[in-house]
Amino acid sequence: MSVITEEFLCARCARHQKTCCQETDIFVTLGDVQRIAEHTEHTGRSDFSEFRSASDPVYLDQDDDPTWQQHVFRSDGTRRVLRQQPNRDCTFLGERGCVLPLETRPLICRLYPFDYTDAGVKPEPAGGCPVQLLRPAQVLLETLEMRFDDAHRWHEQLYRELQQG
Ligand code: SF4
Ligand code: SF4
Repeated sequence: MSVITEEFLCARCARHQKTCCQETDIFVTLGDVQRIAEHTEHTGRSDFSEFRSASDPVYLDQDDDPTWQQHVFRSDGTRRVLRQQPNRDCTFLGERGCVLPLETRPLICRLYPFDYTDAGVKPEPAGGCPVQLLRPAQVLLETLEMRFDDAHRWHEQLYRELQQG
């Protein structure tokens, strides 16, 4: 008897569109940088982040999140983000997705596609995921195995760390 297993949505996404690990500015807190540096220490990689201006004006639209606006952007408009490959893929994107363990990934990567501001995590996800690829009756966050209790914990950590510098 054959067992039909369903391909994970992110794998289908990668065949249909640019994923969230491509052409995306990934802000990293100092905590993110330290966790990634500890993980990549044996590889000698230390050049995974840089200060860069927003690649898309949408990143500047933070009117609903004064904490983000105040603590993420420097006076010259740049912020600390992951470096990208020449094709704008994240440098941690491997053939089978992110090469970093979940607890080492930048907090904003762990949270996506949850939508949030400094006030908290919103009940509805952010746009960007290919919801048209969901099967009937599938719900995005459940299909991606994203849990609200994880999101609340990571959100709290993200806003604590970004206010630390
Ligand atoms: S989280 Fe969403 S945008 Fe990112 S790879 Fe998965 S389906 Fe695609
Ligand atoms: S760190 Fe990992 S999850 Fe985040 S953008 Fe890069 S490849 Fe994707």
